[in-house]
Amino acid sequence: MTDDLTRLPAAELAALLTAREVSSVEATRASLNRIAAVDGDLHAFLHTAPEAALRTASEIDRRRADGYDVGPLGGVPIAIKDVLCTKDMPSTAASKILEGWIPPYDATVVARLRSANLVPLGKTNMDEFAMGSSTEHSAYGPTRNPWDRDRIPGGSGGGSAAAVAAFEAPFALGSDTGGSIRQPAAVTGTVGVKPTYGGVSRYGAIALASSLDQVGPVSRTVLDAALLHDVIGGHDPRDSTSLDELWPSFADAARAGRAAGDLTGVRVGVVRELGGDGFQAGVRQRFDEALAVLAAAGAEIVEVSAPHFEYAVAAYYLILPAEASSNLAKYDGVRFGLRVEPEGGGTVEQVMAATRGAGFGPEVKRRIILGTYALSAGYYDAYYGSAQKVRTLIQRDFDAAFASSDVLVSPSAPTTAFTFGEKMDDPLAMYLNDITTIPANLAGVPGMGLPIGLAPEDGLPVGIQIMAPAREDVRLYRIGATLEALLEEKWGGPLLDRLPELETAGSAHLAPPPGPGTEPDGGTR
Ligand code: GLN
Repeated sequence: MTDDLTRLPAAELAALLTAREVSSVEATRASLNRIAAVDGDLHAFLHTAPEAALRTASEIDRRRADGYDVGPLGGVPIAIKDVLCTKDMPSTAASKILEGWIPPYDATVVARLRSANLVPLGKTNMDEFAMGSSTEHSAYGPTRNPWDRDRIPGGSGGGSAAAVAAFEAPFALGSDTGGSIRQPAAVTGTVGVKPTYGGVSRYGAIALASSLDQVGPVSRTVLDAALLHDVIGGHDPRDSTSLDELWPSFADAARAGRAAGDLTGVRVGVVRELGGDGFQAGVRQRFDEALAVLAAAGAEIVEVSAPHFEYAVAAYYLILPAEASSNLAKYDGVRFGLRVEPEGGGTVEQVMAATRGAGFGPEVKRRIILGTYALSAGYYDAYYGSAQKVRTLIQRDFDAAFASSDVLVSPSAPTTAFTFGEKMDDPLAMYLNDITTIPANLAGVPGMGLPIGLAPEDGLPVGIQIMAPAREDVRLYRIGATLEALLEEKWGGPLLDRLPELETAGSAHLAPPPGPGTEPDGGTR
């Protein structure tokens, strides 16, 4: 019984909890046991909090037994990306410069999880400060992809995606600045949503690039993502970019989409520039098959062109480093986090230099240098200014495309999961991974990634990305849930049913993951 609980989507587990057929302590213990069994090898978590999780779970069980309404998700466990501040767990953004740092407050999304009586299990691994597409840039060693442990789980949110795919947690929180929720979803066979910019609070989310960052759900089903989005979304006066408006219930939209099984009248625009050459054959094949499923359900498939999308990666890698270099200036060894004193002491500047030199990894340094250069007097107009103009052109491409389509679709990533080390020496190859996901961040529109099968050539997951106009996240859930239901019917069950059995902690022959030690020990690594 306990083992089976980890296989349940959050919605189904929640139903058992509400019916009091299962307790939150049982569900939480099942997740913790699964983490103990597989995470030594996968390294999806940087920190687990077993005692606190069991305490929270038993408190929720008690409240439920006393007749209190603990909400529709009360007692369900959840994993949290380490980019989000948690006042009872370290929050490091996978950087040495924040090693062991425990924030004095919770991110708004974390506070909302707690109010909804979800049970935080721990913090998930990521690329340092969310810079990367493979989680190899974590200062604490990478996460393995549960589908093939010699391969990356995507990034930057590889930990959250792997934890959910490997049944360590029913769902998780992620953040997406250029694809860090959708690309890991693609390569792990999970669902991930980047909400409309401003739809979910970033208060307490460690900032990467403030005009692009969004927090969002990572899950195994569209309904679970919707349920989580309903919990974390909505206006937050503490985030000045938060949209002050009422959102519909995304869970209702997902349930309606699943029940409908029909897409008559929905215009699906296929973005010509986000496909074709450079995309793996098996990715293209599964994508075309998904289009056929959409068409068979009554959707009208139209081709749209977004001519400026080809400049999106270039514009992003000026805007992101510019904003990141400014956001990361606060890690100075003075206010919080790591401090490195040069031998024999030194000036404030020398302490800062030593701290930043020792505390930041190579990718973070690369982007700080790039951003500082792009913003420097004399180059500002040529680089940052031009990139912002390109951004406007990309936004106009979206407006034009949405005039003829209700949603836009593309593969979520150009290839399936690549192997460790494959792109570490070639930053540009790494950056090009996000060619499909970056445009939505630049325009602020919402995007969902969901699994559409395994590539025939390597048996690894492939994802489709669905994008909607800003504020129309509801379309993603309705259409995504319909597509998910039709695909599951075709496959005879969810894609993750085909995940190979993972060897457990008992299998002593497993080599440790490439990088520092990883035993889940309930403490900071
Ligand atoms: N891979 C992209 C980058 O390296 C996206 C990161 C993200 O979404 N946080 O910037």
